[in-house]
Amino acid sequence: MEDKYVSEVVRKELQNGIRSVTDGEFRRAFFHLDFLQHLGGVRVEGQIASTNTSKGGWQPPRLVITDKVQHVKPIQLDDFRFLEDQIAAARKEGIVGEGEKVTTKVAIPSPTMCHFRGSRDSISSTAYPDLDPFFADLATAYQQEIQTLYDAGCRFLQLDDTNLAYLCDPSMRQSASDRHSQTPEQITEQYADLINAAISKRPDDMVIGIHLCRGNHRSQWFASGGYEPVAQVLFQKLNVDVYFLEYDDARSGDFAPLRFLPEHKVVVLGVMGSKSAELDNKETIIKRLHEAATHVPKGLDQLCVSHQCGFSSTMEGNELSEEQQWAKVRLEVEIAKEVWGQDLSK
Ligand SMILES: [Zn+2]
Repeated sequence: MEDKYVSEVVRKELQNGIRSVTDGEFRRAFFHLDFLQHLGGVRVEGQIASTNTSKGGWQPPRLVITDKVQHVKPIQLDDFRFLEDQIAAARKEGIVGEGEKVTTKVAIPSPTMCHFRGSRDSISSTAYPDLDPFFADLATAYQQEIQTLYDAGCRFLQLDDTNLAYLCDPSMRQSASDRHSQTPEQITEQYADLINAAISKRPDDMVIGIHLCRGNHRSQWFASGGYEPVAQVLFQKLNVDVYFLEYDDARSGDFAPLRFLPEHKVVVLGVMGSKSAELDNKETIIKRLHEAATHVPKGLDQLCVSHQCGFSSTMEGNELSEEQQWAKVRLEVEIAKEVWGQDLSK
C-alpha cells in the first residue's frame, strides 16, 4: 500500500516542479516515533500531557528509554533505497529533464526528541544512573544510522527538531527547565552538543539540514516565540549546513535572529503556510524574502523558500485538500524561480 502512494507522490513532486524529493513520509504515523522506536532501548509507552488545548483532548504518545540505546539495525535504509528507485524510474519515464539534478532528501527525527518531552522518569535509571552516557550512546546510534545511509548513497539528510523551537516559547522554556532541572540555556547547549556529536562522523560531501517548527499536528501549533533565545547557539554552535525554519506567521517572530548566520550556511525560510488551505499571497512572500535577506551576510544567496513544515506531520494530515496542497507547492516553485532564477538545482 505505502509503496504505491510513495511512488505516486514522488512523481507528483517532480511534476509540480520540486527537485529536492522526499517519500512524503507515507510510511510513518508520526514524524518521529516510527523512526525512534527502532532504536534499541527506546519504546513508545502511554501518553504525554499535551502542551495546548488540542482537538478532542489528543495527547501525543510518550517515548521511554528502557535500556541502553543502541543502533541494532538500519532504520531508514530500505525507505531511502525505494525512494531512489522511484526517482530513477521517474527519470526514465521522462518526468525529469535529461541532466536535471534531483536531490533525494531523507528526513529523520532529531535525537533531542528522545529527551525533551520526557523527564528523568522517562529514562531508565538502571541503564543510565547518569545521563551523560545516555547522550553519548544516542549520538553513537545516530552516527551508525547516518553512515549506513551515506554508504547507500544518501547525501542530504534533514533532522526534524521541534524542541529547539519549543525552547523559543517562554512558557515551554520554563516547563522544560522545571522538568529537567536545568536552565533553558543549558538545555539548548546540551542539544547542540548532542546533535553535533550525532553528525560528527558524517563525510564532507554529506549535507545535513535541521528543521525547526512549533508543532503541526492537524493544522495546530504548540508553541510561540521568535528564534532570539536560541539563535546564537543554533546558527553558530550547531554544525549543520542548512536550517529549515518555520516563518509563516507572527509566532516565529522577526528576521533579526538571522544576523547570527555564518556566511557558509543556508536558511530555507518557511514563510509559506502549510496549515491553512488558503493560497499565500505571492507579493507578500517575495517582500518577506527580500526583507529577510537584509539580515544575513550574503543576502538572498544564503536563502531559499519553502512552506513552514510538511503538510502532514502525523498521519491525520493538515486541514486542506490534496489539490490545495499542490497549488501551494506550484506557487512556491514559481516564487523561487522569480526570486532566484529558473534553474533551481543550483
Ligand atoms: Zn515541522
